[in-house]
Amino acid sequence: MSTCIFCKIIEGEIPCSKVYEDVDVFAFLDIKPVNPGHVLVIPKKHYESIHDTPNDIFAKMSVVAKKIATSVQDNLGAKGVNIGMNNGKTAGQVVFHAHIHVMPRYGKDSFQLWIGEESKTDERTKIAKALQKALK
Ligand code: 5GP
Ligand code: ZN
Repeated sequence: MSTCIFCKIIEGEIPCSKVYEDVDVFAFLDIKPVNPGHVLVIPKKHYESIHDTPNDIFAKMSVVAKKIATSVQDNLGAKGVNIGMNNGKTAGQVVFHAHIHVMPRYGKDSFQLWIGEESKTDERTKIAKALQKALK
């Protein structure tokens, strides 16, 4: 038996407000939403984070997240939507079953995802070079 809370939700051991399900992907309302209609999109098979989620499954999750993003605007009256994913404890991940957050914005909240800081051109060049090399 699984100890993962999201696996338990998929298995029906823990109730949830389901919004979507197919062969590989499941989506349900977050129990502690940043706004009404905050949805979590998860793979049905257990993966910890983006890093061990196979590309084809992540692609399917992304397509579902996109459909839900459009749906919260068309059907819930959201004026905008944020898509987010916390990967790793340092990034704020609490549940270690990969999930994409779809967060509707209604224009009346003070929810802020991040605050950017100034950076130096040579620092950005160095970082970009390192990433370009690794991504070749
Ligand atoms: P994380 O910080 O790991 O990216 O986000 C985990 C999310 O899962 C949180 O937003 C939290 O509110 C949600 N969550 C945790 N436990 C449950 C649960 O039992 N049911 C539902 N629907 N959401 C949960
Ligand atoms: Zn799981």
